[in-house]
Order: sequence, then C-alpha cells, then structure tokens
Amino acid sequence: MSDLTAAHHAHPMTAPPQPAGEFDLIARHFTRPARRAVLGVGDDCALLAPRPGHHLAVSTDMLVEGRHFLSTVPPRHLGHKALAVNLSDLAACGAQPLAFTLALALPRADEAFVAELAAGMFALADAHGIELVGGDTTAGPLNLCLTVFGEVPAGQALLRSGAKAGDALWVSGTLGDARLALEAFRGTVTLEAADFAAARRSMELPEPRVALGMALRGLATSAIDLSDGLVGDLGHVLARSGVGAEVDLERLPRSATLSSQNAFLQSECLLAGGDDYELLFTAPDGADAAVQAAGRTAGVAVHRIGRIVAGPGLRVLDGQGREVDLSAHRAFDHFRS
Ligand code: ADP
Ligand code: MG
Repeated sequence: MSDLTAAHHAHPMTAPPQPAGEFDLIARHFTRPARRAVLGVGDDCALLAPRPGHHLAVSTDMLVEGRHFLSTVPPRHLGHKALAVNLSDLAACGAQPLAFTLALALPRADEAFVAELAAGMFALADAHGIELVGGDTTAGPLNLCLTVFGEVPAGQALLRSGAKAGDALWVSGTLGDARLALEAFRGTVTLEAADFAAARRSMELPEPRVALGMALRGLATSAIDLSDGLVGDLGHVLARSGVGAEVDLERLPRSATLSSQNAFLQSECLLAGGDDYELLFTAPDGADAAVQAAGRTAGVAVHRIGRIVAGPGLRVLDGQGREVDLSAHRAFDHFRS
C-alpha cells in the first residue's frame, strides 16, 4: 500500500546520511530465501502449496503497544510473542504451521529495534520450521499484525464446537503466571526477583503448544487456546458446543509462585488471567491414557480439570464443592477494560 504521506519515499538531491527506508528494512531484516513456500518475500503475493488432502488453516492476531504488550518488553521478546500468539491459534486447531506474514507499523526506522524484533521472531519460526513469506511495513504507532498459515488433514481440525456431555476437560501447562507478572508490573503485587523473572518469562515468551495440538487430532473433541482467561475462553467452547461445564478450582495447574499468593489473586489469575497460551480441550471420558500419551509426545504436562455437562453454563467448584462466584472474575474484553 502507498502511504498518504508519501514524503518518506522522496530522495533529496544532496542527501545527508539517510535513515533506513521501508525497503531497506524489508531487505535487511525480513527477507530470507523461501524454502517450503513456492514464493516468498519480494513479489506482490507469496505462493504456498499445501499438501493434497489438507485444508489451509489461517489465523490473524494483532499486537498493539499498551494494549497487548508493555513498552518495557524487550524487542526480541516482542518478536517471539507476536509469532507465538499466532502459532497458538494454529495449535488450537491441530494444524501444522507452514508460513506467516507480518504487517508492521513502526514510529521510526530504528534498525537496532527491528533487528532484535526479527531475531526473536525468526528464532521461534526456525524452531517450528516455518518462514516469513510477506507483509507490509509502514510508519505509525508500534503495531504488529501477523497472519499464520498452517495445514491440517481435511476433516481433522480441532474445533470449539465438538464438546459433548460426559467429556473430560483438560488444560496444558500451568495457568495464571502471565497475569501475575502483569499485576507485578502494575504494582498491585510484589514478587521476589527470581519469581518476577519467571512470571515475566511466561508473559513475554509463551510457548505455543503446536505439537500438542497435532497430537490431539482424532482424540480431542474440541479445543481452544487460552488468550483471554479460562472462564471467557471456556465460555466460547460451551456456547459453540451447546453444553455446560464444571471445573474444579483446586485442579487448575499453577506455578509454585502463584500458589504462594492469596486465594483471591490465585483465582483471578487462574480463571480470568489471560495471555496463558495453553490449550484447553475436551476428550472422551476414558481417553485419559491417550491424552497423557499425547502430552508426553508433545513434551508438555496435561491436567484433567473438570467435565462437560449437558445443562448450560459454567460452574467452578472450590475444594469444598462450593460454587465460586464468577462475577468477580470476568474475562478480558478490549472494549470493556
Ligand atoms: P505492495 O506495495 O505490492 O503491497 P510492498 O512494497 O508493501 O508491496 O512490499 C514489497 C514486498 O515486501 C512484498 O513481497 C511484501 O510481501 C514484502 N514485505 C513488506 N513488508 C514486509 C515485512 N514486514 N515482512 C515481510 N515481508 C514484507
Ligand atoms: Mg504492501
């Protein structure tokens, strides 16, 4: 797209040392030879060739400074997180990542910043064997919008709509540490230095559960990735599946650091935390061994946290079987917070 303010494309006659331009940034930081893609960066479109018998899985996530990340985030971590949250959506569908595009708005052509951003992004891309095939670069308030492309065997994508009454409810990893870090940044909680560093890693360097999503194909009846908090995201599964659920608060997996916080903060981080990027999924009752095996294959712990029921609504039960008041733990909503 050409900018309405096209002045940055003009070349003065006597040039002082030029800051990097749009095309310098693309060439230096975002152009690598295509490997799997038929055509990568440099033309008007990239060309991808999903394998026969597969569906193309596509997802977009935008990260806006002050909304999705704090200005304190190191650019290398920001590059990782921008790709990680997108890969998390492919993971939730059981798709294998292929490639991604990057639309980037930058206040200034800050080469050191862009180099670090690209390093974090490409390290995670390399870990998943995927490549950057295109994008758009413009001046503007810092904003990253990535689109990821993956492939999944036709008919095998994990969807939000498949949960059945009687299914067991599972979650991967641990929950709540990203929110705990956010509270520490906000100053509402004080953590020891090592605990803060660990929580901050959870917030800034989430690991998308791609291998787990793929291992759950044909096993999980529904899945979603946790980005806005358990209560809200589980609500999407329940609505799409036309079922209800009961969750045992005590079974929600949490770090030692979170376990040492007061009960209300623990519940808030676990139930409404957001930014967890773990998978929440359902599987038939009796498939526990197969689910545990999928977790081992993927190298991530999986925990059975509750059950799907026929009646509508979500009930969270504490250790004494009492219902937790969920109105105190609302899901994150960008237009309500
Ligand atoms: P157009 O104007 O035709 O949309 P652009 O000049 O915006 O093309 O981009 C030139 C090429 O560089 C395209 O192949 C585009 O996909 C790629 N590109 C632009 N920005 C990025 C970026 N941030 N990361 C990767 N590729 C990019
Ligand atoms: Mg463009």
